[in-house]
Amino acid sequence: MNNKIWLSSPHLTGEEQKYVKEAFETNWVAPLGPNVNGLEQDLSTYNKITACSALSSGTAAIHLALINLGITRGDEVLVSSFTFSATVNPICYQGATPIFVDSELDTWNMCPQLLEEAIEDRIKKGKKPKAILLVHLYGMPSKMDEIINIANQYQIPVIEDAAEALGATYKGKAMGTFGVMGVFSFNGNKIITTSGGGALVSHDKNYCDNAIFLATQARDQAPHYQHSHIGYNYRMSNIVAGIGRGQMEVLNDRVEARRNNYTYYRDALASIDNITFVEEPTGFYSNRWLTTILTDSFDTREKIRLALEADHIESRPLWKPMHLQPIFKQYPSYTNGTSEMLFKKGLCLPSGSNLTTVDLERVISGIKNVI
Ligand SMILES: *Cc1c(COP(=O)(O)O)cnc(C)c1O
Repeated sequence: MNNKIWLSSPHLTGEEQKYVKEAFETNWVAPLGPNVNGLEQDLSTYNKITACSALSSGTAAIHLALINLGITRGDEVLVSSFTFSATVNPICYQGATPIFVDSELDTWNMCPQLLEEAIEDRIKKGKKPKAILLVHLYGMPSKMDEIINIANQYQIPVIEDAAEALGATYKGKAMGTFGVMGVFSFNGNKIITTSGGGALVSHDKNYCDNAIFLATQARDQAPHYQHSHIGYNYRMSNIVAGIGRGQMEVLNDRVEARRNNYTYYRDALASIDNITFVEEPTGFYSNRWLTTILTDSFDTREKIRLALEADHIESRPLWKPMHLQPIFKQYPSYTNGTSEMLFKKGLCLPSGSNLTTVDLERVISGIKNVI
């Protein structure tokens, strides 16, 4: 039996252990300490942004971003339908209503025209949406000029879910730094990992300070425990942050390796008529977190997926749109068929930064055998 090829597995260098060891040796085994501060500094510098809060997950960061904007029961939040459920769940934690917006075909991210239609329609129905929660899926930047223009025109703040897009840029600027707040994830399958973790970034330090306040149980200034707000236990551990510091040292290598995977697959498969790739529009720089292909039919997609599975290769259909999920079906959506089509015909290929050429060749021949 061939070795298992995973979709996206952790890729550590060994240097992470230096920071973790330091945490043990100095007894900083707590949800605060030099690694937490160090990782926040590293992320701020890398993304050229004022402030950063290291948190227990990307989901926690989205939740605190929504709380920072005062999103509460009955509010409406415009959100990409083509995403992972973790984008949407925190809207529901707040008792707010997700309003789903479908994708466009160039980047597979939120369609600007549809976003504007949705805003107009929500206003006509009596309620102006409180925020736009935008996802840069698979590491591909969204059409930022268009989206930010619309957001400014209607004065609606943008939160960027850049959980999959650390290292990606639009016109030279890091994803997560266009809106009022941005979110990163360091889950085990992301481009860099801390095993589990996330971060909130902002040009406004107040948002990050308040996120840390809420993430550490919202303690008022007092010698005793005094509370005027509902708090959360969402801070990142200093041990986990040590892994993150080691990973930040190799982030650019990881982006390069994932982009090379994409190029390798595309060059090998581009001549096949029933497989297409999403190219980067000019000015868009994807981290190619996952290489995704679009086939000509659900049938072809499934044949490829099952053939790879039989050879111990993990691939996965693209995200099932949120407006089609049983738990979210009841909410309003503005659709154009794009995300539903992508879900039917698309596949994520093994994309880890630790894949070898032999691995990539095995995936490619698995696909070619089916076609
Ligand atoms: C991974 C992911 C999240 C959640 O991040 P966690 O750190 O796992 O909580 C949110 N949104 C998207 C698009 C993701 O891929």
